[in-house]
Amino acid sequence: MSWQRKVISTLALLMTIIATGLAYVMNVYKTAPVNPTWELSPGNKTAGAVTVRYSGTATLLFDDGKTRWIVDGWFSRPNALQLALGKIEPNMANIDYGLSANKIDMLAAVIPIHSHFDHAMDAPEVAKRTGALLIGSESTANIARGWGLSESQIKVAVNREPIHVGEFVITPIESRHFEFSNPVLHEQALSNPKITTPLNTPAKALDYRVGKVYVLHVSHPKGSWVIVGSAGFEKDGLNGFQADTLFLGIGGLGSQTVQYREDYWAETVGQVSPNRIIPIHYDSLTSPISGPMQGPSLAEFFLAGGLDSTKTFLQEKEASDPTISFNTLPRFKEIVLYP
Ligand SMILES: [Zn+2]
Repeated sequence: MSWQRKVISTLALLMTIIATGLAYVMNVYKTAPVNPTWELSPGNKTAGAVTVRYSGTATLLFDDGKTRWIVDGWFSRPNALQLALGKIEPNMANIDYGLSANKIDMLAAVIPIHSHFDHAMDAPEVAKRTGALLIGSESTANIARGWGLSESQIKVAVNREPIHVGEFVITPIESRHFEFSNPVLHEQALSNPKITTPLNTPAKALDYRVGKVYVLHVSHPKGSWVIVGSAGFEKDGLNGFQADTLFLGIGGLGSQTVQYREDYWAETVGQVSPNRIIPIHYDSLTSPISGPMQGPSLAEFFLAGGLDSTKTFLQEKEASDPTISFNTLPRFKEIVLYP
């Protein structure tokens, strides 16, 4: 073999090894940091029950038999290479799949809880297809304008001003995003927070700036709940917002300090005083929208990590307060929240 051929075959071998390694870290998933015994199963649905369906991340569909609305409505799952190096846009086939798996035709509202791609990216298309009013920050409104959603379907939320959606009263409370422990990621994802002009797509993942971060307090004649999508908090921000059920974002929590986890718990569970906690946003951002939910991919795990700490933390909290039940939601299935 000539030396040129040797160089070429060595390079080809190296590239194969790199490609295999990349495919491995992108497509091998860790176990989700929740207890499998927490998972709820669909029960008998009575007329007028309030139900929830979970698609993964913070996408939650609520339905009382008369009115349906969704948090985030995110079904696209760009891959790790697109996220790191390329541009992304709503995945129409995934949106078809997600809407159909949730049996969604019409929606009253779609409410992204902040403007990062994994919350707000698909919301304008979901609003277009379902007639929903898109409610969010000015940054989310600019994602919608870039996507061509009619201004009549966009409502900019006002901090702590209740919004009536059928019999649901939804109060957006401005809060803080999860503080990434990786300083580079922290700077990239959270600095320069606003999207000030209509966002053209495809766009880089980081062009979906965070915007304002909301916690949602929901009250309904059947019950009350709070949704904290991102594991961040504002001191005393939820003071006075009690609820029966707390949907609690736990993504990245294990990568934080013990003190951060305890402070987060005090400012969410401590303020809301729920009797039921439903962890959310613990699944991979890149695994398929169909099939079972996966824990973070190895690539995501290297960035955030701490899955064992998250699970241990939750299990310790469960053991320390028997008055609170811990539950997780199966993907897409209709679960009775309040009969
Ligand atoms: Zn985010």
